[in-house]
Amino acid sequence: MTHDFAIVGAGIAGASLAAELAESGASVLILEGEDKPGYHATGRSAAFWEECYGGPEIVPLTLASGAYLREKGFLHQRGALYIAREGDEELVTDFMQRFVPTGATIQHLGRGDLQKRLPGVRHEWSDAIWEPVCADIDVAGLHAHYLARARSAGALLECRARVCGMNRASGSWTIATETGASHRAKTVVNAAGAWADELAVMAGANPVGIKPYRRTVAQVRIDPPVSNDLPLVLDLRGRFYFKPESGRLWLSPHDEEPSVACDAAPEELAVAEAIARLEEVVDWKVAAVEHKWAGLRSFAPDRRPVYGHDPQVEGFAWFAGQGGFGIQTSPAAARLGRQLLLDEPRDAMTQGLDTGLYAPERFG
Ligand SMILES: Cc1cc2nc3c(=O)[nH]c(=O)nc-3n(C[C@H](O)[C@H](O)[C@H](O)COP(=O)(O)OP(=O)(O)OC[C@H]3O[C@@H](n4cnc5c(N)ncnc54)[C@H](O)[C@@H]3O)c2cc1C
Repeated sequence: MTHDFAIVGAGIAGASLAAELAESGASVLILEGEDKPGYHATGRSAAFWEECYGGPEIVPLTLASGAYLREKGFLHQRGALYIAREGDEELVTDFMQRFVPTGATIQHLGRGDLQKRLPGVRHEWSDAIWEPVCADIDVAGLHAHYLARARSAGALLECRARVCGMNRASGSWTIATETGASHRAKTVVNAAGAWADELAVMAGANPVGIKPYRRTVAQVRIDPPVSNDLPLVLDLRGRFYFKPESGRLWLSPHDEEPSVACDAAPEELAVAEAIARLEEVVDWKVAAVEHKWAGLRSFAPDRRPVYGHDPQVEGFAWFAGQGGFGIQTSPAAARLGRQLLLDEPRDAMTQGLDTGLYAPERFG
């Protein structure tokens, strides 16, 4: 059988796009190299929906996704606080100027309000920006939801199917996997996360320069335990974030270590840095590191995602470069991906998006 689409990668990108494409009536095959979908970046996220995350050009995708995520019950409101030290007032002003025009709901707070929202904050942290609608995302639930939607619309998922070669003849691809199987599809969609450029090379397309960077998260026990109602707290200088999770704290040093595409593992140094930075912010005591993990966030050179048909290679399309925002943007990204691949008109969810920002053509 020749499928309309073979999507390579069953993380949130591949799963959400598969659901959208299959529901349009297209026949879709998802090929995933691992034993189960969601093993890489998707299964390792910090699980938040934060309006400003990724920069002003990502905000439209995040905002366009919010209603869907909220309506389906995947968001649990928490609020976010960007915090700054004395002397960083210019950073605060700059942040407000960059993000207020995007439509993100943000408000400048002084020291008194910061202290109320973050008990134990050290004296030198004097400024904050409050984002009330920031929410936790049920990532596993959302990923399963998209896989279920895809499956019930007829999409097929093959795991342990690492694509190792592709050949195009007479308008369709023959796709080889490491197990020796071969599949046929009219269009191959690159949703391979950290491996996106490698896959492009297999298809004979120019890699766009998507590079993976390692990000570490540790789950720590605080003594006495922190309240589950605390906001997500992010450093305006980008050196940490933390948030409560089931009586524990998830903590990241906001590291961004260049990496090869691989099964990323956490490094002790990154965890130690995360704890040291937390201790600069609050007077809480870290009693134990219970769990730690790392994942790869993959960025194109301009840090915007890459959605749409490859400009040179017929039948090859991109759905990659999801950076640190691939979960929170997935509903609007997948809808837009479907519209671009099927040449459908924009709808209420995507009408405000500037597709040129995310087009593969921008890399020449
Ligand atoms: C620590 C951390 C925290 C994060 N926090 C957040 C957050 O709070 N909110 C948010 O929105 N985002 C967050 N992100 C980013 C988010 O996780 C990613 O943007 C998103 O998961 C990317 O999804 P993906 O499907 O593109 O990639 P992946 O989930 O990595 O999926 C790609 C898949 O492609 C498969 N694949 C690759 N090559 C092949 C091949 N040749 N053949 C077959 N299969 C192949 C891989 O096995 C993999 O399963 C975070 C990321 C990390 C690492």
